[in-house]
Amino acid sequence: MFKKVLIANRGEIALRVLRACRDLQIPAVVAYSEADRDSLPVRLADEAVCIGPPPSGRSYNNIPAIISAARITGADAIHPGYGFLAENAYLADVCGHVGLTFIGPSSEAIARMGDKALARALMKDAGLPLLPGSEEPLGNPRTTQGIARRIGYPVILKAAAGGGGRGMRVVRSDRELAAALPIAQAEAEAAFGNGEVYLEKYLEQPRHVEVQIIADGRGHVVAVGERECSLQRRHQKILEEAPAPNLSSGTRQSLFKAAVRGARAIDYSSVGTFEFLLARDGHFYFMEMNTRIQVEHPVTEVTTGIDLVRWQLRLAGGERLTLQAKEIVTRGHAIECRINAEDPERGFEPSAGAVTDYVAPGGPGVRIDSHLFPGYVAPPYYDSLLAKLIVWGQDRAEAIGRAERALQEFVIGGIKTTAPFHRGVLRDAQFRRGEVGTDFIPRYLERIAADGAVRGEG
Ligand code: ADP
Repeated sequence: MFKKVLIANRGEIALRVLRACRDLQIPAVVAYSEADRDSLPVRLADEAVCIGPPPSGRSYNNIPAIISAARITGADAIHPGYGFLAENAYLADVCGHVGLTFIGPSSEAIARMGDKALARALMKDAGLPLLPGSEEPLGNPRTTQGIARRIGYPVILKAAAGGGGRGMRVVRSDRELAAALPIAQAEAEAAFGNGEVYLEKYLEQPRHVEVQIIADGRGHVVAVGERECSLQRRHQKILEEAPAPNLSSGTRQSLFKAAVRGARAIDYSSVGTFEFLLARDGHFYFMEMNTRIQVEHPVTEVTTGIDLVRWQLRLAGGERLTLQAKEIVTRGHAIECRINAEDPERGFEPSAGAVTDYVAPGGPGVRIDSHLFPGYVAPPYYDSLLAKLIVWGQDRAEAIGRAERALQEFVIGGIKTTAPFHRGVLRDAQFRRGEVGTDFIPRYLERIAADGAVRGEG
């Protein structure tokens, strides 16, 4: 195992990784930017090292600064968390060259799955079901119109290097396509430094269901469970559940099989997630693979009792995956609410500033993954996630009830958060019936706007 792990991240995930290191009795160093000098991960770490000024390009995304920080502090491994450099094949590669372990999969696996168009081709070869789409990066509008017509509108344009719900555009006609393609290509170039765009069939009102896998790179792969991630705003997840409601056991088993087959095909090693779109007719399609720990991993942890971050560390440290598929038992139901520093009453505009008051909920079935404390100042430089409320119940109804109870107790004073919005969603009859799809949140927002009030306020 490692002598010391450098945590190259911030916020709740830096704390999560720190806790896993503590559980494994590995000393950890938190690498922080000047904006996070007084943060909780820095306070709780065994050691901390400043890696640069607040803008992430000069700190959390600065590879030379992170490698030097590991060197100076005597760390022999780097955990990238999620976001920032978590799916940066170059960092994984550099680590290999300088004798550091990148806690994640190989740089080849990151590069192959990070190019979404290449990932599609590889998974197609592995026999996973895919939505019809373009095989090559798109060229000019005219040839692209031919591809789109063959597939049938609507289609979705996606940046090959995209992520985080950015760089996607739905087009419904030749005319829309001709207008959108050059913009999508220019945006992809500007945002990701790679202008390659591909397209695939756009599904109306699908569900987003993903499968967590753990693999040891020696052919042993287990599917740990699936997560329902359909509740999204602007293609960004806001509430996740495990297991996925109203999913037949046949579909679940087929999803697991597809994910395991996909991971084997690329000799994957580490934790990872296969994302699928589930159509109304029950068919599902591979969308992409994420080669890192995900924000929503705790719903899988609390329903299976498996510590995913700990496994990630152990596998990177060279241990074998001893977990067998038949030992994995899913119990009860879990829900995660992402509490963001955003004002749901003002179109979810960012709400930076000081947290004047902070009281975290507790009691049976409640887990809070958060870096907040009274007096915390949310810096404007990074993402808006403040806290993840994860609840567990014997069944979905109990989990919903506990989530409501926890949100009622939760106090985050001084800034606007999405907590009241979650309370509204949890009370919604359609949500309670488990009738979820990626259109749920947009429609819900229309409904509450029509009611003339944000329902979560009560
Ligand atoms: P990112 O990597 O940026 O998160 P994804 O490819 O995972 O992008 O897609 C994010 C979300 O966009 C999906 O969860 C889904 O809601 C929507 N989406 C993506 N592809 C399609 C598609 N072909 N049809 C319908 N919705 C899609």
